[in-house]
Amino acid sequence: MRQKIRKGILTFSALLFPLLFFFLSPYIIIASASVGILNGSSVVFGFLLLTSIVGSRLFCGWLCPGGAIQDFVSTSNDKRWNGKWKNAFKHIIWVVWFSFIVYLWVRHWPLKTDFFYMVGIDLPMVIMYFFVMTLIYVLSLVTGKRGMCHSLCWMAPFMVIGEKLADLLHIPRFRLKADSAACVSCGKCSKNCPMSLNVAEMVKAGNLNSTECISCLECVDGCPKKAISCGISR
Ligand code: SF4
Ligand code: SF4
Repeated sequence: MRQKIRKGILTFSALLFPLLFFFLSPYIIIASASVGILNGSSVVFGFLLLTSIVGSRLFCGWLCPGGAIQDFVSTSNDKRWNGKWKNAFKHIIWVVWFSFIVYLWVRHWPLKTDFFYMVGIDLPMVIMYFFVMTLIYVLSLVTGKRGMCHSLCWMAPFMVIGEKLADLLHIPRFRLKADSAACVSCGKCSKNCPMSLNVAEMVKAGNLNSTECISCLECVDGCPKKAISCGISR
C-alpha cells in the first residue's frame, strides 16, 4: 500500500513538472544570479538542504518529478547504474556549477528576491522544458535505473550536504535499520532498489547508510523477513 501511495505521489509530481520545472532549474538560478536576483530555485534548493538534515533524501524517493520520469523509463531499461565514479561525477559538476552561482551572488550583492523570476510560458521556456525532458528520458534510457540521480542530478548534492551536516552534528535523521540475523539473503531488496544499491550485502554488514539511498522504502516494504526497518535516529 505504501509503495502505491509513493508511486501515486510521484506520478502526480511528474504531471506537475511543467510547473515545478521553473523552481528546480539549474539554469534559471544562474540567469537570475547574473542579474542579482535570488529566484525560486535558490529558495527550493536551500529548503532541500535544510529538510534533508532530518528527512535525508525523502524528496528524491517520494516527490521528485525527475525521479518519477526515470522510474517510468526504467521499465524499458532496468540495468543497474551505480559505482564510485558514476556517483562522484554529479558532485564534481555540482562544485563547478554552484561555485559559479556563489561568484555571481557575491558579485551582485546585495541580492533582490523574486521567487517567480522567469516563470512564464514563452518559446525559449518551452524549448528548455523539452530539452530537460529529453535529457532525463534519454539519459535514463541509456544508463538504466535512475542514472541521472547517480551521475548528473544538481539537487542531490544539496541533500547529501544536509545528511553529512546531520551526522557531523549528531542530529537524528531518517535512516534505514538492518536486522542482519533475520535476513535470508534472498536478494529481493537489491533487485527492487531503484538506486541499484546492493542492499542485501549492506543488511548483512549491518550498515544501511548510503548517500545514494533515496529513502523510497522499496526494500523495507518488499523484504519477506522484515529485516529492514526505518525511522529517525542518529
Ligand atoms: S529482502 Fe530481506 S531477507 Fe531478502 S536479502 Fe533483502 S534484507 Fe535479506
Ligand atoms: S536502499 Fe532501500 S530505501 Fe534506499 S533507495 Fe534502495 S530500496 Fe530505496
